[in-house]
Parts: sequence; structure tokens; C-alpha cells
Amino acid sequence: MSVEQPGQLIVITGPSGVGKGTLVSLLLQRHPQLSLSVSATTRKPRPGEIDGVAYYFLSQQDFETAILNHELLEWAEYAGNYYGTPKAQVIEQIDQGNYVVLEIELAGARAIANIFPQARRIFILPPSIEELEARIRARGTNSEESIASRLAIARQEIAASEEFDFTIVNDEVEVAIAKLENAIFS
Ligand code: 5GP
Repeated sequence: MSVEQPGQLIVITGPSGVGKGTLVSLLLQRHPQLSLSVSATTRKPRPGEIDGVAYYFLSQQDFETAILNHELLEWAEYAGNYYGTPKAQVIEQIDQGNYVVLEIELAGARAIANIFPQARRIFILPPSIEELEARIRARGTNSEESIASRLAIARQEIAASEEFDFTIVNDEVEVAIAKLENAIFS
């Protein structure tokens, strides 16, 4: 894999509940030249999540096979499940000169920085940790245990946000989107 890829890899990281998904889907609607990499996960689908669209939902065994077969560009364990980026599609898009967006957690973002040093890495921050907790609870799909685990991880992730090329606070969505566009296209 060459580091002189013609396309651009955009990594968007931020704690669970920060609103990355909303920002990313608005970004994709407004900029059709961006393509989102669909990750694989062993997490169970939330209501409304479609296999192959939100994620590729895999059994633990199938995920472990994908790791062994080197089918993943990076992978990480997060809150008791595996998450990973399928390699083939991302490499193909980058080789074609396209912009590919990865929405991934911290360990994955660090791995990508090693493989693709030229990737633009953007960290989305919540206005405060209290606001983050409120957003995770408002989603209503996480157990108390999962909320606690996600908040503990969030604190660690936020502490690492300075490693990123850009940090953007998601307070007002439109303001955050404008900053994201600036980070990606500048
Ligand atoms: P959720 O369960 O809320 O959909 O995602 C949990 C976390 O996993 C989020 O921080 C999300 O960005 C991250 N994530 C999703 N896909 C991937 C992936 O392919 N690789 C890594 N490392 N993290 C991922």
C-alpha cells in the first residue's frame, strides 16, 4: 500500500453520543463526492439500522475470520464489541481519487494515522461531558451499563483529542458542519 494515494482519507472521531452520525450524514448529503466507509461490527443492530448500510453486522466468529484474513484496514474493541473498517472498498475508492470518510473510534484513528499519515483526522467534541451524557440517554437505546462504559471511554477519548489535526465542538450543528467542511476541503 503506497502512502502517495491520489484520494483523500478523512477520519472523523469523537465520543459516542457526540452527534458524529448526524454531522456525517449532513456532510454526505451536501457533498456527493464524499463516500462513507461502511464498517463491520459484532454489535447488534439498533432499531432501524440496516445490514450493509449502517454497518455490516457480523457474528464474532465471522469478524475474527475477517481479522485473520487481513480483510480489515483497522479494527478495535469498543464497549464489548468489535468494530472494523473493511479494507478493499476503502483502498479502491482512494485509488480512484475519491474522498473517503471513516467514522471510527480512537484506537482505529491512531492505526489509520500509521497506515495513512496523510489522512486528515478530525475530532468532534461535545460542548461538555454533562451534555454528552444527556445526548447518550436521549438516544434511549443503551443500557445503564453501556452508558457508563461509553462515558468512561468518552473521557479517555476527549483527553486524546489534541492528537488530531482538527478539533470541532458540536454545539450548533450548522456551525460544526461549516468547520468540518473547512477542515476537509481547505
Ligand atoms: P456505535 O456502537 O455507537 O455505532 O459505535 C461505537 C463506536 O465505534 C463509535 O465511536 C464509532 O465511531 C466506532 N466505530 C464505528 N465503526 C468503526 C470502525 O470501523 N473501526 C473503529 N475503530 N471504530 C468504529
